[in-house]
Amino acid sequence: MSGNGKRGDILVIGGGISGITAAIEAAEAGANVTLVEKEAYLGGRVARTNLYFPKMCPPSCGIEINIRRVKTNPQIRTLTLATVESLTGGPGNYKATVSKAPRFVNTKCTTCGECVDVCPADRPDAFNLGLSTTKAVFLPYEMAYPARFVIDEASCLGATECGKCVEACPYGAIDLAMPPETEEIAVDAVIWATGWAPPDASQFEGLGFGDFPNVINNVTMERLSALNGPTAGKIRRPSDGEPPQSVAFVQCAGSRDENYFKHCSGVCCLASLKQARYVRDQYPEAEVYIFYIDMRAPGRLEDFFVAVKEDEKLSLIKGKVANITEDSATGKLTVEAEDVLSGQKVAQEVDMVVLATGMIPEGIGDTEVEGGVELDEHGFLAINQPKGYLAAGCAKRPVDVATCNRDATGVALKALHLGAE
Ligand SMILES: Cc1cc2nc3c(=O)[nH]c(=O)nc-3n(C[C@H](O)[C@H](O)[C@H](O)COP(=O)(O)OP(=O)(O)OC[C@H]3O[C@@H](n4cnc5c(N)ncnc54)[C@H](O)[C@@H]3O)c2cc1C
Repeated sequence: MSGNGKRGDILVIGGGISGITAAIEAAEAGANVTLVEKEAYLGGRVARTNLYFPKMCPPSCGIEINIRRVKTNPQIRTLTLATVESLTGGPGNYKATVSKAPRFVNTKCTTCGECVDVCPADRPDAFNLGLSTTKAVFLPYEMAYPARFVIDEASCLGATECGKCVEACPYGAIDLAMPPETEEIAVDAVIWATGWAPPDASQFEGLGFGDFPNVINNVTMERLSALNGPTAGKIRRPSDGEPPQSVAFVQCAGSRDENYFKHCSGVCCLASLKQARYVRDQYPEAEVYIFYIDMRAPGRLEDFFVAVKEDEKLSLIKGKVANITEDSATGKLTVEAEDVLSGQKVAQEVDMVVLATGMIPEGIGDTEVEGGVELDEHGFLAINQPKGYLAAGCAKRPVDVATCNRDATGVALKALHLGAE
C-alpha cells in the first residue's frame, strides 16, 4: 500500500497493449503493479495481427520493446493464466482475489522444444483461431512472454497415461502435478484493460458466415496473412486452398445495425483497407471490392485511406450488403448490394469474402465486483465508475492501438493519484 512517499499499488486486469502500457507507465513512475492476464502470454489481440496500420509494420515492433520494459522493471509482477475472481473495496483500499491456473511448466524452461518432439497429443491452436494445431505442450507464439512452454490440461494425456514430456525435459521444467493457486492482493487503484473480442458472425443473417467456407471474418484474415499463421502468410481460399483472384470486404458486418450491434468499432474501415493491401501485395492481378456505408478514417489515418484507394484494382462501393450467396460447385460467392451513388443494384461474384466484424467487450463479466461496474449502452465500461475503477483502451470503447497507448498513459496517471499519499 502507499506509504513513505511511494506511489502505491496498482492492479491492471488484462495484458494487451492497453494493460501493458498502463503497467509500464505506472511502474516507471514509481508504483508497484500487478498485471493479470488470462492467457498464457502478454500482447492481447495485437499479437495476433499481421501488420499494423497505418505504418504497416509487424506487431513485434511495438510489443517487443514494451515486453522488454515489463521484463526489466522489478516493480511489475506479471501473472499469466490468471483472472481476478472478485474485487471489493474502493479507491485506496481495494482487495482482489486472483486465481492462477497451472502452466505445468516452471521457470527452468528454456523453450528448447524437446518436450514438443515427444508429445503425442494435438490441440487446436487458439492463437491461430483453431486453423492449425499445436502439441498439448506448446509455446503460444514465437515472441511469447513469458518465454516458456505451457501445457493445455484438456488435451494432455497426463502423467499416468503419458508423461513423456517430463522424461524428455533436460531441465526438470515440467511438473504435471502443478496445482492451481489463489492469492489475495491489496491495491490502491484498479485499471481494467480487458479489451475486445470479435462477435460471432454466424448470427448475421444473409452473410453466410459458418455456411460458406469462403466467407471469413477480419480476424481470420489477419491470421491467414501472417507469416506465423496457419498458412505461413499465404492468403488462400479456405474451400480449396487456391489463391483468390477476387476478394470482397463487407464493412459494418453486424455493426451500426439495430438488429445486432449499434456501435461503430472505428477501426474496421482501416483494417479492411490494410487487408486489401495484403491481398494486392500477394496477388498483383487480384481485384478487391470494399462495400461500405461510410468510410471512416479519422484524423491522420485519412492519409492511409487516400494512399490505399489509389490502387486501380480496388473498387469502393458505397452500399450495405444485403445478401451473400454461394455457388456450391465452385465455392464462388455473389455479394449483393445497392450502390447508393449510382442507384444500381450490384451483384459481384468473388472468390472470397471478408466480413469486417467489429469489436465487442471482453472479459468484464469474469470478475465478481462488489457493487458492480457501470457499463455503457454497448456493454463497454463507462468512463465514470461508482467504485472508482479506471478503464483503458478497448475495455472502454473500440479504438486503434495509438489511441490505446495514449489512453492507457492517461489512466496510469489517474491511478498514480489514487495511490499517492
Ligand atoms: C481486424 C482488426 C484489425 C486491426 N488492426 C489494427 C491495426 O492495424 N492498427 C491498429 O492500430 N489497430 C488495429 N486494430 C485494433 C486493435 O486490435 C486494438 O486497438 C487493440 O487490440 C486494443 O488493445 P487492448 O489492450 O485494449 O485490448 P486487447 O488486445 O483485447 O487485450 C486485452 C487483454 O486482456 C485479456 N483479458 C480479457 N479479459 C480478462 C480478464 N477478465 N482477466 C485477465 N485478462 C483478461 C485478454 O486476454 C487480452 O490479452 C484492429 C482491430 C481489428 C478488429
